Formats: sequence, C-alpha cells, structure tokens
Amino acid sequence: MADQAFVTLATNDNYAKGAMVLGQSLRNHKTSKQLVVMIGPYVSDPSRAVLRQIYDEVRLVDVLDSGDRAHLAMMKRPDLGVTFTKLHCWALTHYSKCVFMDADTLVVSNVDELFDREELSAAPDPGWPDCFNSGVFVFRPSKETYDKLLQFCTEHGSFDGGDQGVLNAFFSDWATTDINKHLPFIYNLSSVAIYTYAPAFKQFGSNAKVVHFLGNTKPWSYTFDPKARSVRGDVQEASSNPSFLLEWWTVYASSVVPMMN
Ligand code: UDP
Ligand code: MN
Repeated sequence: MADQAFVTLATNDNYAKGAMVLGQSLRNHKTSKQLVVMIGPYVSDPSRAVLRQIYDEVRLVDVLDSGDRAHLAMMKRPDLGVTFTKLHCWALTHYSKCVFMDADTLVVSNVDELFDREELSAAPDPGWPDCFNSGVFVFRPSKETYDKLLQFCTEHGSFDGGDQGVLNAFFSDWATTDINKHLPFIYNLSSVAIYTYAPAFKQFGSNAKVVHFLGNTKPWSYTFDPKARSVRGDVQEASSNPSFLLEWWTVYASSVVPMMN
C-alpha cells in the first residue's frame, strides 16, 4: 500500500550503513510497503546515492530548518538534537500509517503484519519491561501529534536523554491500557536477551523477525572477511549474537557493497 511505509533515520555515514542493510533486508523479505529514510545533513553524497537505490524516499531532515516549532524546541533543548530528528517521523503526513525502525535493526523475516497494529505499538524494553523499546514502533503520522510531541519534549525533556524517554512519557499508558499494543519480543529482539535469559533465547530465538543491535557496539564497528565469511574485531564485548552479526554483514557484503560503484 502506497500510504504505508517503513521509516528509519540516519544522521551520519555510520548509521547510513545500518539504514542500507535494514532497507535491503526489508526488500529481501519482499515487503509491499514504501521505504523511507530520513537523513541528516552530514550524510555524504556517496551514502545518499546508495540509499536512493534502496529506499523509495530519501528525505533530508534538518531540524533547524523544519518549521518554527521544531526550531524553537531545538533552541531550548540543544541536547536533544537526534531525538528531535527521530520525532520528525510524525511529520511524514503523506503516509497514513508507518513503522519506525532504528538503523541498527535487521529484518530476518517479512514483518508487514505490523501494519495491522495501532499507534503506539512497540515491544517491551529488555532493561525495563514497563517501558517500550523505541527501536521498533507503529505510529500514525500527524501534524497535531508532531506538534504535541515537540512541545512535550521541550517542556519535560527526556528522562533518559533520548527519544525512548520522551516517547514513553508521552505514550505513558502503553504498559497498562491495551495488550494489542505490546509487540511480541521477536519483533525487536536485542542481543542483551541472549545473555540475560539464555534458555528463552534458546527456546524462542529462532522465531526472531527483527534483530536490534542496541548498545554501544554496532555491526559496522566490526570488520568482515568476506572470503572466510567471518566477523573480526573486538567480538569479546559480545553485545551481538555472532550469527545475527554474520547475517548483517552478509547482507552488507552481498547486496549493499555492489551498489557502491
Ligand atoms: N541515530 C542516528 N545518529 C546518531 C544516533 C542515532 O541516526 O548519531 C538514529 C539511528 O536510527 C539509531 C537511532 O537513532 O538507530 C537510535 O540510536 P541507537 O540505535 O544508537 O540507540 P540504541 O538502540 O543503541 O539505544
Ligand atoms: Mn537502536
């Protein structure tokens, strides 16, 4: 459907690599939805050229240029720069429903059924399950909601300094009101769970639909040897499951790199 889209965000070339792999993984699993990437002004021209091959819409969002309210909000809270940029997804009002996905997520199965859900649907955060994790969420673009969110953000800030704190405070009834808005954990499976609840990962991990590489070490922080099909680097930190990491790098090496010429 043309009025439904997956949306991600990349403000620099590193996160742009994540967006390339995410977009390509959605294509590989035959999504029927539009693909939108919001980029910041620091994404280089070569990265933009690759993103344009994968995404239907590459939208430059510079919070400082995006209207009075966003500008004012930004002036008052310069610390929340990337957060304001992510909230910009509510301004994509040429779509009726969207699924936001962090650039450090990877789709391992078709997830178009997420569009059956309503705003704001998301999976629990593994660190504090009464909060939702804002790496994957279903929302409805709306000028009204966008303005309210910016205002809320300016007035209350973010309890964690990022978008997840703002969104959880704004959609504060998520934990208690409607169980349909709780996405199963397999739609936002973070590697943290592999170590905090290994038996559950063993039991359910193979059902994963979306993998989220949350934390400091992202897939692009490692290096990959395509001949040996192995990931190198400081894997000792092990914030990522090796096979998901390999899957990320396989998409990067086989589908993204060939677009770079
Ligand atoms: N992001 C970005 N540039 C940054 C930081 C974050 O574009 O410098 C975007 C990107 O889409 C990223 C999301 O904001 O996936 C959330 O940040 P991150 O995934 O690093 O947070 P985590 O999931 O590790 O908490
Ligand atoms: Mn993330």
